[in-house]
Amino acid sequence: MTVAVDRTKCIGCGACVMECSLEAIDLVDGVAVPDPQKCKDLGACVKVCPTNALSLAVPAQAQANPEQRSPEAGSKFNLKDPLPEAVSDYSQGNEKKTIRSQVSPVAGGDVWSGVWVIIEYSNGRIAPVSWELLGEGRKLADSLGCELCGVIAGHQVEGVIPEAFAYGAEKVYVVDHPVLKDYRTEPYAEAIAALVRKYQPEIILMGATSMGRDVFPAVATKMQTGLTADCTVLGIDPETKLLQQTRPAFGGNIMATILCRTRRPQMATVRPRVMGMPERVEGRSGELIREEFALTEEDFRTKVLEFIPADAKSAFLDKAEIIVAVGLGIAAKRNLVLAEELAEALGATLAGSRGAVEAGWLSHDQQVGQSGVTVRPKVYIAIGISGAIQHLVGMETSDFIIAINNDPEAPILRVANYGIVGDLFQIVPALTAEFKKRLQHGVAN
Ligand SMILES: Cc1cc2nc3c(=O)[nH]c(=O)nc-3n(C[C@H](O)[C@H](O)[C@H](O)COP(=O)(O)OP(=O)(O)OC[C@H]3O[C@@H](n4cnc5c(N)ncnc54)[C@H](O)[C@@H]3O)c2cc1C
Repeated sequence: MTVAVDRTKCIGCGACVMECSLEAIDLVDGVAVPDPQKCKDLGACVKVCPTNALSLAVPAQAQANPEQRSPEAGSKFNLKDPLPEAVSDYSQGNEKKTIRSQVSPVAGGDVWSGVWVIIEYSNGRIAPVSWELLGEGRKLADSLGCELCGVIAGHQVEGVIPEAFAYGAEKVYVVDHPVLKDYRTEPYAEAIAALVRKYQPEIILMGATSMGRDVFPAVATKMQTGLTADCTVLGIDPETKLLQQTRPAFGGNIMATILCRTRRPQMATVRPRVMGMPERVEGRSGELIREEFALTEEDFRTKVLEFIPADAKSAFLDKAEIIVAVGLGIAAKRNLVLAEELAEALGATLAGSRGAVEAGWLSHDQQVGQSGVTVRPKVYIAIGISGAIQHLVGMETSDFIIAINNDPEAPILRVANYGIVGDLFQIVPALTAEFKKRLQHGVAN
């Protein structure tokens, strides 16, 4: 008898490792691997396993065909690998080996490899977060030693392809079909899921835009995998090679790092402007793979009757270069005019805290922060905003922050490059007058 592990059930919790007094079982790539040379069939690990992934089994050495995971295999992850029955071949001396069986390097096999970025293209517009994610995806792919690929689903997308290469994709998958002309959840989710099923990427990323927030959960559901929304940091665990997906949790009071251990692909969305923009290299090219879209208009119930663009002012808050943001410190809606005048003088976009939005002074799409928009302007002027963590996560990567607050202990002052402590009703009109004067005279600074 010896211990066998059902890899489809093992969740890598480590309970068996803790329980084994002989140190005869260990976690390798997040999966329990018994060492038959140390194991004495005590069965303690089998009893403690919360998912019944372990059992005492008879070895069938003759059928074993273990294959050592080579460094070139990078992060390739085989979900459906059952442990070969001949566990006696797992270790040689002190050297522990990770077994891979039925590994197929071609599409359609069980190998999940590659970092994909879904490039959002709709109504002739590419969401710039797609390029930010190609920059971030590059780092992840380099850590894993795998390919970085872009995915474009839409209609008449030819112009987008060279851009995807220019921003760093090595390979681009394209599904171009009239059904994908206007964004709808069902066809887009179907197009992406079909590609994922065929090519099996290990990680897929998309912007936490309206489209990303809508289509990614549908894709995750189709793939029966996990999805971490609104990540602010992504990384690769050097040991397990799992995607570390970090995002604010519990109302923004802690940063939680979330792992998707047992399902593939690992899926995450990231808000616009959280990651930096990568360098664009004109003329860079790579491999282009065009895929058919098998479904027709009749297969989908939702029809687009009309496209009404969002209010231009608020729609581009995440791209604004100068933002004047107000908080509850302005005390009443009538005082908004102070911020509006300052914004007009600077050619800035008006935004605010959730406090200001809930007071009815601004619309929700003008809200900066965790439950609003993430911004990264060159200049962010915060007027009467305290700087709660939920606000800071949406603006603290701004290039230059000016905060006006009458409380010297206000948290916003800790992230500000310039903090002006005083009454906003005196300071803001004075600033507006001074900016107007200087800009009229063509003084740049
Ligand atoms: C799950 C969750 C999500 C959230 N998401 C967001 C989000 O996306 N964005 C967001 O902003 N908040 C968010 N919040 C709310 C957040 O916690 C704060 O409540 C909110 O940011 C406070 O808004 P405020 O800074 O405008 O108001 P306050 O905290 O009341 O601050 C007002 C500030 O104005 C200053 N002030 C008052 N009078 C003057 C004056 N005359 N001159 C100068 N300064 C003055 C005060 O000193 C104070 O610092 C969220 C909360 C939760 C629980």
